[in-house]
Amino acid sequence: MISRVFSASAAVRWRAAQTRLSCSAPTGEEKPRPSMLRHLTSKIKATGPITVAEYMREALTNPVTGYYVRNDMLGPDGDFITSPEISQIFGELLGVWTLSEWMAAGRPKRLQLVELGPGKGSLAGDVLRVFSQLRSVVGGASVSLHLVEVSPVLSRLQAQNLTGSRNREADGEDQLVYRRGETAAGVPVSWYRRLEDVPSGFSIFLAHEFFDALPIHTFQRTQRGWREVMVDVDPEKTERLRFVLAPSPTPASTTLVQPDERRGHVEVCAEGGVVVQQLARRIVEDGGAALIADYGHDGTKTDTFRGFKGHRLHDVLSAPGSADLTADVDFSFLRRMAGGGVACVGPVTQRTFLKNMGIDARLQVLLRSCSDASAREQLLAGYDLLTGRSQMGERFHFFGLLHRSRLAEPTRPGGLKLEGKRSAAPLPVAGFTELSFS
Ligand code: SAH
Repeated sequence: MISRVFSASAAVRWRAAQTRLSCSAPTGEEKPRPSMLRHLTSKIKATGPITVAEYMREALTNPVTGYYVRNDMLGPDGDFITSPEISQIFGELLGVWTLSEWMAAGRPKRLQLVELGPGKGSLAGDVLRVFSQLRSVVGGASVSLHLVEVSPVLSRLQAQNLTGSRNREADGEDQLVYRRGETAAGVPVSWYRRLEDVPSGFSIFLAHEFFDALPIHTFQRTQRGWREVMVDVDPEKTERLRFVLAPSPTPASTTLVQPDERRGHVEVCAEGGVVVQQLARRIVEDGGAALIADYGHDGTKTDTFRGFKGHRLHDVLSAPGSADLTADVDFSFLRRMAGGGVACVGPVTQRTFLKNMGIDARLQVLLRSCSDASAREQLLAGYDLLTGRSQMGERFHFFGLLHRSRLAEPTRPGGLKLEGKRSAAPLPVAGFTELSFS
């Protein structure tokens, strides 16, 4: 099997973030995309400053000029690199997690694997390969793959990688499923623009580096209360944008900041909250689980909005539409938005999660079957990047939403709880609980 490791020295997105202060003002070399800048400046001139969330949504997902809509940004030649692109082991372990949750749910006959923001499709491909390799476990379950992707460019790449030429774009613009295909192993694949368009049914949801791309609102504590940070045209130079504070409360500043908030500056990803609520409702109604992996914090950080271009930090207000914009995920907010209907696990660090999932054992198996020196080196470099304490291992976190029954004590068939010595602890949740492989 081929590892996808690139040079270990390739700048990954989080690593560049550590040099935030070195972020420079736009230079003469940058070629702004005039149409996006013009679109935003005329909008602001017509109706006033826009929220950071609106700015981020336009810059990333505007259907004509948005960054995600137009680009393939992943990989050494793009703007950043992600764990599934670094090593196949990452997706394989998430495949094992998916099957373990499906088994814990009593092996439902139909299994929908749903990925939010699938990038190049590498993660889904690795998960499906695990399904093929563990055919005896998957048995006769009917597996389907559902991809939520806003970008036509990336959806074409995903289709190519997952199905070769066995896929077709849907006729007409309004189709909820805008592309369909089938993998070589016969797994049907469907593409949607929004999570709400994915059919109901038992599903395992995966979201890797998806929530960090969703728009955030940002707020500043002032002597007169919370004020929302807005994006305005710089009066000194109309081709430039600048941040300003809203002079009075906005709908977002009055509803999104917690009454007991202690920080002076907060970022709130309302859209991420809505997605988590949808995931939670689906899990309550149809069963299943969601695994969210991203860089983030537990309600402690204040100012994480940043841009990336060509593996380097990029001024967020410069040349909108030409660079990735991202903000750390606030897992405490996601937990609050998930509500009490589902059980939340984590966040745990990527290092802990992958080690609990058996990454060391998997690495050894791959090394034993690999005699090529450079491939072995790549496997080891990928392992270090994914798990290293000073690399992605501690900065990325895993967070899970589970059906409540998943963490309840096992019951007798008649509904009675098992008690006394024979009482069993809830089944461990792979990745979040240390498992022994004896
Ligand atoms: N999960 C992949 C890609 C991460 S980049 C990986 O880890 O390699 C973010 C992905 O989310 C891209 O596929 C992007 O097109 C998609 N995306 C961003 N905003 C989205 C939105 N609002 N709705 C659906 N997909 C979105």
